[in-house]
Amino acid sequence: MVTKDEVLKALKNVMDPELGMDIVSAEMVRGISVEGASVSVVLALTSETCPLANKLRKSSEEAIRSLEGIGKVNVELTVMSEEELNRLVEKVRSKGKTPQLPEKLPKKGIKNILTVLSGKGGVGKSSVAAMLAVEFSRKGLKVGVLDADITGPSIPKIFGAIAPPLVKAGKIVPSASKGGIKIISMNLITGDQEAPIIWRGPLVSSAIRQFYVDVDWGELDYLIVDLPPGTSDAQLTVMQLLPVDGIVVVTSPQELAGMIVSKAANMSQRLNVPILGVIENMSYVKCPNCGEKINLFGDSRGRLLAEKIDTKFLGSLPIDPELSKACDEGRIEGYKSKDFQAIVNRILASL
Ligand code: ADP
Repeated sequence: MVTKDEVLKALKNVMDPELGMDIVSAEMVRGISVEGASVSVVLALTSETCPLANKLRKSSEEAIRSLEGIGKVNVELTVMSEEELNRLVEKVRSKGKTPQLPEKLPKKGIKNILTVLSGKGGVGKSSVAAMLAVEFSRKGLKVGVLDADITGPSIPKIFGAIAPPLVKAGKIVPSASKGGIKIISMNLITGDQEAPIIWRGPLVSSAIRQFYVDVDWGELDYLIVDLPPGTSDAQLTVMQLLPVDGIVVVTSPQELAGMIVSKAANMSQRLNVPILGVIENMSYVKCPNCGEKINLFGDSRGRLLAEKIDTKFLGSLPIDPELSKACDEGRIEGYKSKDFQAIVNRILASL
């Protein structure tokens, strides 16, 4: 009977030409199991769309079959976590080679994918993502919202009670808002809007991947992706994975907006995804009596920041109690704002 070690040794002969190393050194081989003459192996690929998937599977099968006394061989494929992938990229780099990053996932039937980014929580990123979806939908466009804020999902609350997604023929059918906007969020799956979700990084990125790959989004004009706050690994992962067309940055005058804007610019350059512009939220209050704009936090810096990174200033939004009420009560589809409509028109113009 063959041993696991022998199987591993045989698999050391299988090279991944893109990485320039064998699949064992690349830590792609998982879960070898030997039962009598049957051998099963799991291979973790660098991406879902790995063009070498079939070739690697076949070469691995052949390598195992080259051992004596082998019966059934089963090679299953899976995908590396972001953490494993980063480790591999470092390993390839340390050998003086330039690693090929995994290809982005296919566009599916979605014309435009926009991500909404902010530096910290509470600046109105999710509200802006929801309002974007609503305004696009009002223009007769087909829209979906992917709530990628896995650990702090707030999109379902903003849209109000919606039924959980269904599974049909192995695909997840997204929930729909009253106005027909397709929505996927962890909240709709866990069903508990209060419980904080404590997840490790790789699980977060595989959940987001699944929200894109396994969800039947159908034909969409726009998919709005509500990113987790910040500009660290979680956001980078989404942007590396999804075929994103543009980034909308949301800032507020209280936050160290300069930091987020320059980080976003960095990210955009690295990933080759354009920043469509900067929205300054909670910029001012309007006096209910005379309509005068009161800049509670000093002069708006949004325009300057946008200029600094060579992008558009899309506009500023006032602190509007009607908006926070609409979000709290799940009535965002009933909320209208001329300021926001102007912002959406500027985004559409820049696409
Ligand atoms: P983030 O996604 O950045 O964490 P949210 O969109 O969840 O932020 O907004 C945080 C809170 O602020 C919510 O209660 C929301 O209703 C409220 N809010 C956002 N923008 C405004 C605004 N322009 N005026 C009033 N309230 C707002």
